[in-house]
Amino acid sequence: MRRAAVAGAAAVALVLAGCSGDDDPAPAATPSSPAAAPSFAPGAEGIGDPYFPTYGNGGYDVAGYDLKLRYDPSDGRLSGTATVTATATQDLARLNFDLAHLTARRVTVDGTAASAKADGNELVVTPASGIPNGRPFTVVVDYAGVPEPIRNEALGEGGWLRTADGGFALGQPESASTWFPVNDHPSDKATFKLAMTVPDGVEALSNGLPGERAGADGWTTWTWREDAPMASYLAFVVIGQYRVTQTTHDGKPMLTGLAESLPADGPAAQSIARTGEVADYLATLFGPYPFDAYGGIVIDDDRVGYALETQTRPVYGETFFGAGPNITVVAHELAHQWFGDSVALERWQDIWLNEGFATYAEWLWTEHEGRATVQEIADRNYDRMTWTVKPGDPGPEQLFSQAVYIRGGLTVHAVRKAIGDPAFFGLLRAWTTEQRNGNGTTEEFIATAEKAAGGKDLDPLFDAWLYGTTPPPRP
Ligand SMILES: [Zn+2]
Repeated sequence: MRRAAVAGAAAVALVLAGCSGDDDPAPAATPSSPAAAPSFAPGAEGIGDPYFPTYGNGGYDVAGYDLKLRYDPSDGRLSGTATVTATATQDLARLNFDLAHLTARRVTVDGTAASAKADGNELVVTPASGIPNGRPFTVVVDYAGVPEPIRNEALGEGGWLRTADGGFALGQPESASTWFPVNDHPSDKATFKLAMTVPDGVEALSNGLPGERAGADGWTTWTWREDAPMASYLAFVVIGQYRVTQTTHDGKPMLTGLAESLPADGPAAQSIARTGEVADYLATLFGPYPFDAYGGIVIDDDRVGYALETQTRPVYGETFFGAGPNITVVAHELAHQWFGDSVALERWQDIWLNEGFATYAEWLWTEHEGRATVQEIADRNYDRMTWTVKPGDPGPEQLFSQAVYIRGGLTVHAVRKAIGDPAFFGLLRAWTTEQRNGNGTTEEFIATAEKAAGGKDLDPLFDAWLYGTTPPPRP
């Protein structure tokens, strides 16, 4: 994610503005769970992230989401079916999905009706019989409602927003649960398929490969699939009036969408038109582009003061292009395709692994364009840095702070200076190759860095840069 300057300041003011009120602990297992053998227990109502204890759920691992949905812009109603394939990671008597403001009408587990009830922003599913540890299972949820955003502790609102001509679902660290039942935490990556039916003449854009588009009775179904595992907050849908351009880049579909309210050849259009060029440049540094599709979407909505690295196809708020073309933000979001998307977070505390590298990619791009060297940018930022927030443990309320982005970028630069360019760029490739389509932690990154540096002990460097509160030596 990258926030526009003004919006970023506003976001800080929102910090801790309120809690969602849905964080009551799940009710304890009751004897009424009919078929549960003694070893079968409810999955936890959170996946165990210390920063966001209620995010995600325990007891299962999702392999894929297959959504068949219909959205009517005239009344803002979303309805359809989510098919979730998963594997039990414990003897499971009951499991939760994250689902906000939408109502499940019918739920089956492996084809048999299951009981389901809403509990705040959780959907609690009790299958007719327990699911043994290690067994794959399929949950089908028929659901409907008028989606709304959710408020979270760190960022204010995220998720579904209705617009005059449609709506969109977007946000970090949470957004998916506002439009489908989900294990809403990046540590449970899954493949993603979407068939979104909207009125003829309305565009419905999402992640990954565009598929068949079929029409009937005044409605058109747009289909999308992302076969590389994806963190839930990287799933998006944008519905409304968009200029869609589809080409091919490096043998893969390149699809961009520009809000029709924006000029067809204005700064936003000119910026996302350079997506392929920027991705190719980053690939020379980070290794091959990790996904099967390219693109970018520009939304024209005052409520979106940020850009987000939605997988294969970032979504940009129009605000980034108000002063002219902005390729730096494109470089930031495309860098996340490697750092954040292909290699996703295991826990939110490690957000610097996403934002530090995306920020560093901005500096690399700026140097590539000949506007300033990375060293000049690093020096400028070092001189104005405050050192109170630890990028390696910023706390949930500082998840998107300058320390995470700028000091995170400086941390990357410090590693580069400490181990030299050959080892540094070898490290970047080792990380994006070894962790591709998976998750990574700071500890794993440090181990990879030490290996790339020929066994050099880098703990003192990372301790100072990620966890210290006094200035480390200028890199
Ligand atoms: Zn970012």
